Amino acid sequence: MDSFIYKDGKLFAEGVDVETIANEVGTPVYIYSKATFLDHLKKIQTAYADIDTTVCYSIKACGNINILKELAKAGSGFDIVSGGELYRAQQAGADMSKIVYAGVGKTDAEILDALNAGIGTFNIESEPELENLIALCKKHGKTTKAALRVNPDIKYDSHRHITTGVKETKFGIDIERAQKVFAKYNKNGVVEMSAIHVHLGSGGKTIEPYVNYVKKILPLVDELRSRGHTIDTLDLGGGYGADYESDTVPSAVDYAAGIVPLLKAANLKLILEPGKSIIANAAIMLTEVVFKKTGGEKTFVIVDAGMNDLIRPCLYEAFHFIWPAQVNEKYVPAKRTKGLTMPGTETVDVVGPICEGTDYFAKDRAMPPVVRGDLIAVFTAGAYGYTMASNYNARPMCPEVLVDRNQYKVIRKRQTYEDLIELEK
Ligand SMILES: *Cc1c(COP(=O)(O)O)cnc(C)c1O
Repeated sequence: MDSFIYKDGKLFAEGVDVETIANEVGTPVYIYSKATFLDHLKKIQTAYADIDTTVCYSIKACGNINILKELAKAGSGFDIVSGGELYRAQQAGADMSKIVYAGVGKTDAEILDALNAGIGTFNIESEPELENLIALCKKHGKTTKAALRVNPDIKYDSHRHITTGVKETKFGIDIERAQKVFAKYNKNGVVEMSAIHVHLGSGGKTIEPYVNYVKKILPLVDELRSRGHTIDTLDLGGGYGADYESDTVPSAVDYAAGIVPLLKAANLKLILEPGKSIIANAAIMLTEVVFKKTGGEKTFVIVDAGMNDLIRPCLYEAFHFIWPAQVNEKYVPAKRTKGLTMPGTETVDVVGPICEGTDYFAKDRAMPPVVRGDLIAVFTAGAYGYTMASNYNARPMCPEVLVDRNQYKVIRKRQTYEDLIELEK
């Protein structure tokens, strides 16, 4: 479900015509729907309600503090991967006990900040990291909890750049070694090792890989418990599917149906770290057609957003559904799918203005004909959209707008040219 819907051929974000927003704040602009991300969070919280579950939204997917505040108010914890994300969570008023901290290269300064903040759990990615955490706790008189990140070594279908759960990545510890690590460090006196963390990377479109992960981890939990370790929590990470195409991924209820019975039987608490399944389709990026150019066989729609504003197509060959924000009624898409064509559509490449061949949003894509000045929406832009944006080509970062029913507010202003050089003075 999301709240970007055409009414009389005009695209609305909840109750607001997106053209109104473009007229006031300009383009490009990210437009978020509060109802959408809160709905996704609620559905996850409800689906897993049968066991003790903490949902820790992954800040790296989209970290605007106004969005974090809304999620925190709705009971979300947070998955952080840096000192900067810890700061964002703190400023958003997050419950520190519901913070999990992952990342392969946590610095001493970052670890100390997190210890002082009293976060819930450190997700440990390597033995040297664990040794360092223990040493820092002892030195500063702190105690904390840790989960050991384990690689169950299950392959699944995803882009090679976003595969994390197999052997030979820099993340986590191979499952065979995990037991040795627990045995070696269990009695350290300051870091309570009571959880296992796994993370499947991103792109799961079925529940099987998650169920298989749990099934592969449970024997390890049994083994550790039989050796006297107290393991009470499984952190299943993130990577749950998001609707880049309409209705193509399992729902929270589907995932829970596979996962909850297994954890219940094993008497384990659950931590989930969803990022894109909460925020991806809670935003569009709205951009304006600057030129339309026909060269050789191809027609290019050149827009005012570039890969600096949304890099996913360039980085991951990611698919985003793209459609004009105002269309003749006959062109209102019933579903957002990869191969959508309709009589009268035009096949175009949608590209940005940046001097790189990879600066594109779509190739050979059918779209209703557009002209200079038209607005087009890049759908499902909420996750790894704004958080990966940059100032490349000295392009000021675009604004973010949050829609709440019939109201909207700018939650991040457009940068100015002065902003670009402010820190260089
Ligand atoms: C990136 C990440 C997530 C979130 O992944 P999504 O695909 O956005 O759900 C969760 N946990 C960890 C450890 C991550 O690195």
